[in-house]
Amino acid sequence: MRVAVIGAGVVGLACAATLAQRGYQVRLIDPDPPGQGCSGGNAGLFSLSSFVPLALPGAWAKAPGWLTDPQGPLTIRPAYLPRALPWLWQLHRSSRVDRVVASANAMHALLAPTWDAWLPLAQWAGASGLIRRDGWAAAYRSKAALDGDALGWRLRAERGIRIDTLTGGSVREFDPNLSPAITHLLHLPDQGHCLDPLGLCQALARAVLAQSKSAKGGSAQGVLGAMDGRGADVSVLVPARALGFEVRDGRVAQVHTERGAIDVDAVVLAAGAFSGPLAEQLGTRVPLDTERGYHVTLKSPSVMPRVPLLEAAGKWFATPMTAGLRLAGTVEFAGLDAPPDWRRAEALLDQLPNLLPQLSHSDVGHADRWMGRRPSLPDSRPVIGRSPRFANAVLAFGHAHVGLTSAAMTGRLVAQLLAGERPSIDLSPFAPDRFGAAPGPWSRH
Ligand SMILES: Cc1cc2nc3c(=O)[nH]c(=O)nc-3n(C[C@H](O)[C@H](O)[C@H](O)COP(=O)(O)OP(=O)(O)OC[C@H]3O[C@@H](n4cnc5c(N)ncnc54)[C@H](O)[C@@H]3O)c2cc1C
Repeated sequence: MRVAVIGAGVVGLACAATLAQRGYQVRLIDPDPPGQGCSGGNAGLFSLSSFVPLALPGAWAKAPGWLTDPQGPLTIRPAYLPRALPWLWQLHRSSRVDRVVASANAMHALLAPTWDAWLPLAQWAGASGLIRRDGWAAAYRSKAALDGDALGWRLRAERGIRIDTLTGGSVREFDPNLSPAITHLLHLPDQGHCLDPLGLCQALARAVLAQSKSAKGGSAQGVLGAMDGRGADVSVLVPARALGFEVRDGRVAQVHTERGAIDVDAVVLAAGAFSGPLAEQLGTRVPLDTERGYHVTLKSPSVMPRVPLLEAAGKWFATPMTAGLRLAGTVEFAGLDAPPDWRRAEALLDQLPNLLPQLSHSDVGHADRWMGRRPSLPDSRPVIGRSPRFANAVLAFGHAHVGLTSAAMTGRLVAQLLAGERPSIDLSPFAPDRFGAAPGPWSRH
């Protein structure tokens, strides 16, 4: 069975890898090399505990303060506000307590099998060494700040997430490099992180290529040359943008790309924040927007934290990685096309002493800066499911803050759907048509 996967971010790659493992003939369509979108530059957390939705009841009271603080965790570009408003309104509606609990339950079901899904997949891709399982920790500078996040922590504790709360001197016993201003540290020991998110994507792509070649009786030689798009084996990695679909007898028969049409028996749409127009062609209109985030990676910091740290006030992570110490997070609403506002990245650097006061400006001198587009839906749940119009099209996008964590489980669910198996979790909370179906015409772009 020939399956085209549109998008070579971590979600598309995990889908492609799982399908290749099951013997499908996979083609991965992306104009860019694997992992170059949001997936390569994220904070690297495997955070099974991140099922708490973005919008909590109290968040609206905090929003004005965040929006007026140039270093705050949330910003909206004024020119984008009119376009963001409908999405923000839906976000607001999602913050009712019963909806928050429903979303948390759905996301908990998706995230709980993270290790069960990721560990064998990473091993298959030869990337087990990129995964650490020593948890992450949230740093607070007052009891009042911790109390302000009480609902989120209660939702986690009620769903069995192990949380060790450290106060006073035990914070510095846990990690002597931490700022004395940190009064409360919540360590979640069963979580983990990735030492190189881009490397993990590339490993998955290499494994898909190698599997496809060995299935065809060829060798995996030259596979590495395909990673940068040059000399790619375009029979597997298609370096082109998907433009639309050819439909015959109620099924997707071809994917149209910039390099021509590809015959398919099935298609998986996993183009992250760019999935909206293609999803509409597949019969689903979803309120997909992008929460843009930034990172700065300090290439040779003089100290590293013991585990990834959440700066709870600023809502960003400092994650120890192979490439250095990555500060990543925050949310900016500015759409897909606006240029990056690097002041958002600088703001992360400015706040670094809140966590690790020893890091000096000389550490900061060797840093790279990055902006990525989280694919986000206002109910904080991705779309994972069959197209309501075409039984051989599966949609898998909108993973927002947890795309790395949930990619392997998403790949498993997508493979189950394509094989006609019963999905291992209830997929109704992730249904593509939960926001209403898109109007026709269905056949062509
Ligand atoms: C600052 C930041 C920190 C984050 N930290 C974490 C974290 O710690 N843990 C976690 O789990 N998640 C984290 N995330 C979220 C995570 O990075 C995303 O959810 C995830 O990368 C989304 O993966 P994706 O494959 O859907 O999208 P992407 O990685 O964006 O991939 C989509 C791909 O689709 C391709 N594409 C687009 N249009 C087309 C087309 N028409 N045809 C073909 N291809 C197309 C793009 O080129 C791209 O390669 C973070 C995100 C940000 C921004």
